[in-house]
Amino acid sequence: MIQLKNAEQISAMQKAGKITAEALVLAGEAVKPGITTKHLDDIIRHHIEKSGARPSFLGYGGFPASACISVNDEVIHGIPSKDVVLQDGDIVKVDVGAFIGGYHGDSARTFAVGNISDEAKRLIRVTEESFWQGLKKLEIGARLGDVGAAIEGHVKENGYSVVRKYVGHGVGRNLHESPDVPNYGTPGRGQRLCAGMTLAIEPMVCTGTSEVHELANGWTVVTNDGGLAAHYENSVALTENGIIVLTKV
Ligand code: MG
Ligand code: MG
Repeated sequence: MIQLKNAEQISAMQKAGKITAEALVLAGEAVKPGITTKHLDDIIRHHIEKSGARPSFLGYGGFPASACISVNDEVIHGIPSKDVVLQDGDIVKVDVGAFIGGYHGDSARTFAVGNISDEAKRLIRVTEESFWQGLKKLEIGARLGDVGAAIEGHVKENGYSVVRKYVGHGVGRNLHESPDVPNYGTPGRGQRLCAGMTLAIEPMVCTGTSEVHELANGWTVVTNDGGLAAHYENSVALTENGIIVLTKV
């Protein structure tokens, strides 16, 4: 069942969203060649806890860290490690959640490590653009298929593919709630959108195949062809007065 939120609940979610967004900004500022993904995770955990919140991902389904940090062909759910040292030219996806006041925020960004290729820059840009193209379709009375079709349409126009195996989701008291929010769809189809929905919209975009698989560690999801992947996510609320991006500083 979809749990609709009232104005008070949405304002509580903005607080969780702000801490989430701040942690991502701090992580982004720290990204450079030579640092480990564990170091980024420490920065994120420190900020979230200092703010009186709890990292949503820590212990979620047994996940061992505060953020999911995924490099290059790793799409999502990468486990931060002191053995993963970022290299010049890498792209790194940082996915963060913070829980406070009974609600979660959930947001992800893809950062450049040093100097990256033009292709990697373009992938990151198109991924972010596809999120905003989808968001434009998020309005009362529209359908989730409108959102997904807009995201996938923009990605395909640019010669890339969207991951289908993993999708966005409702967010609120639980990190993952109904409905699923696919980054593909058919206009006019799918769940009808109404006021009070709070959704994590999160295109995962690949340069090559959209086929992905999980590594033997039971978490990290990588592209089957080893191609690069980017990720961009915000938690958003749909209200009578329009859209609120919850995960912003
Ligand atoms: Mg996320
Ligand atoms: Mg999410």
